[in-house]
Amino acid sequence: MSEVINVAEIFGRNVFNETVMKERLPKSVFRKLKKTIEDGTELDPSLAEVVAHAMKDWAIERGATHYTHWFQPLTGVTAEKHDSFISAPDAEGKVIMEFSGKELIKGEPDASSFPSGGLRATFEARGYTAWDCTSPSFLREDASGVTLCIPTAFCSYKGESLDQKTPLLRSMQAVDRQALRIIRLFGNTRARRVVPSVGPEQEYFLVDREKYLQRKDLIYAGRTLFGAMPPKGQELEDHYFGTIRERIGAYMKDLNVELWKLGVTAKTQHNEVAPAQHELAPIYDQVNLAVDHNQIVMETMKKVAGRHGMTCLLHEKPFAGVNGSGKHNNWSLISDDGVNLLSPGETPHENVQFLLVLGCILKAVDVHADLLRESAADVGNDHRLGANEAPPAIISVFLGEQLEDVIDQLCSTGEATHSKQGGTLKTGVATLPDLDKDATDRNRTSPFAFTNNKFEFRMVGSSDSIAPANVVLNTIVAEAFKEAADELEAAEDFDSAVHDLIKKLLRDHKRIVFNGNGYSEAWVEEAERRGLPHLRSMVEAIPALTTEKAVKLYEEFGVFTRAELESRAEVEYEAYSKVINIEARTMIDMAGKQIIPAVIRYTTQLATSLGAVKSACPEADTSVQTELLTESSALLSDMKVALAALTAVTEQCAAMASGKDQAHAYHDQVVPAMTALREPADRLEMIVDKELWPLPSYGDLIFEV
Ligand code: ADP
Ligand code: MG
Repeated sequence: MSEVINVAEIFGRNVFNETVMKERLPKSVFRKLKKTIEDGTELDPSLAEVVAHAMKDWAIERGATHYTHWFQPLTGVTAEKHDSFISAPDAEGKVIMEFSGKELIKGEPDASSFPSGGLRATFEARGYTAWDCTSPSFLREDASGVTLCIPTAFCSYKGESLDQKTPLLRSMQAVDRQALRIIRLFGNTRARRVVPSVGPEQEYFLVDREKYLQRKDLIYAGRTLFGAMPPKGQELEDHYFGTIRERIGAYMKDLNVELWKLGVTAKTQHNEVAPAQHELAPIYDQVNLAVDHNQIVMETMKKVAGRHGMTCLLHEKPFAGVNGSGKHNNWSLISDDGVNLLSPGETPHENVQFLLVLGCILKAVDVHADLLRESAADVGNDHRLGANEAPPAIISVFLGEQLEDVIDQLCSTGEATHSKQGGTLKTGVATLPDLDKDATDRNRTSPFAFTNNKFEFRMVGSSDSIAPANVVLNTIVAEAFKEAADELEAAEDFDSAVHDLIKKLLRDHKRIVFNGNGYSEAWVEEAERRGLPHLRSMVEAIPALTTEKAVKLYEEFGVFTRAELESRAEVEYEAYSKVINIEARTMIDMAGKQIIPAVIRYTTQLATSLGAVKSACPEADTSVQTELLTESSALLSDMKVALAALTAVTEQCAAMASGKDQAHAYHDQVVPAMTALREPADRLEMIVDKELWPLPSYGDLIFEV
């Protein structure tokens, strides 16, 4: 029997959370710090010394030897540099454990090797990390011991953001301010803050580590670059929500315990659609924590997999032909007096504040669809978006029957008089209870779907940070709120002004609403008719970052400067080129050193046995051997041609200056050359003796975990 897990006892055990702070900090310090954390007021630097001291004692009591400023540069993963707590030895050679307020507040990692898109020339390579007291410090336990991790923001010498956190915190301020104006208009004088809440659902794959290590593509690229489809894929739909196998169950149990200790509210777990694919969702939290926790979830998933002899793949498309992984970013706005601005109530047609908020969100998404799309762009996600399994690359909003009906009433007659109700679901079995139905059914094909009291942005890639998507959501909604508040605050007759504004918003931006099947070809055509942007790939999406519209938006709300936006675009182009270059070179390596030699061995064996059979028994039918030999030799020669072509274009592209043109060249030339090389190789995999094939197959990888 497995040991009993006392969740309540372990939850948050490794977090310097409010309970610990209350115990260990002087009352006045605790109160001031709490005020900063809860109200978003400025941090009083004199608190740092006291907090650092308490944090150090707490960490050392728990075995910590090091601390680190934990930050999120634009590499997509987190970064850290560890310092031990020891001081310089005294005359007797003794050391003491030290940690000052200065060390808590500010770090100075030598930051010149992080992507900055030209913001930080090497001669001014200083970067600073700054303590984010709104995200609690935590202890990480692993083979390197116990480390105190302090969440920080990362900026250049001139204060330009070089990370995911800084713009996120700025965007939270922006939407907070504007949302408060909106709720004040409706008479709410209690609330002091409105904070975006986010719950990200994280998908992932688990594969056996031994097999993983036999595949250079998984090691270098995180995805398979070759691989024929196994006889069975996901068509039986027997994996989704299927019984969780023992090995996976043991992993999930360990993962949950690790996450709970770190204060991450791991809540839901299940098998996903593709074989070997799973999902974990936490309970939603304020967005800054949700972003940090999602990074912790991804790190912990990988770490725990190693302990179970497995590797966790977070790539968006580890296997062609079965579903890839994404992240559903559930987003809402909740005020500190507990009101969810996205809650329609029982009768949305009467809920004027909700309708105004909804209208503003529709406007925000319509006006800035390109930015939202861009926020989900990463190299791996190019294999998902628009590829018939994930949401299409076109942004639209799903509202559901009830809300769409309210909008129709408002747009046609100017009045909304009723809300469709969900009613009761009758099961037809006497012993089963009748269930209250939601007024809205689900739609799984929409990239931006209203679900009960939140919007679910379904485009984000599984390996990507959720920060950029939330920066966009917070800022574009702040803008729409601001424009609405400017108008309504100046209105003489609020009731009629708000009524008119809601109608106008809904009417003007109705084109973004789409409740049908987002996977259909008909929708692509319809969306084009409606004038909605269709950005099919990452390189097509990146320019959205630097349009005049985007610069105006972000500068107005102090989220990004023009220079920061330009640097981010540059970082993304570079990232694109680098990833494709690695993938291409991995293919060249595998094709040249593993697959082609294996095929040559196979054809040689075949030719030898063909000769042997012919000489032993001249009248024997050797047509099968001859056919296989002809076919595999032809594919082998196709492979060699494709390999030479891929090698040539990859070299050409690698020689180009980095930036937009290079990224486009990789996209237009290298990616198709990779496909051309994969095609004969995958066909050969279906022919060549399995004993000779140098790589574990898709079947081995996803059905035999
Ligand atoms: P659904 O079944 O509609 O996908 P779930 O209840 O399973 O919704 O939640 C999915 C994710 O959304 C979870 O992380 C959950 O905590 C989060 N979530 C639920 N309500 C909200 C909300 N108001 N704001 C943000 N996230 C939320
Ligand atoms: Mg899901």
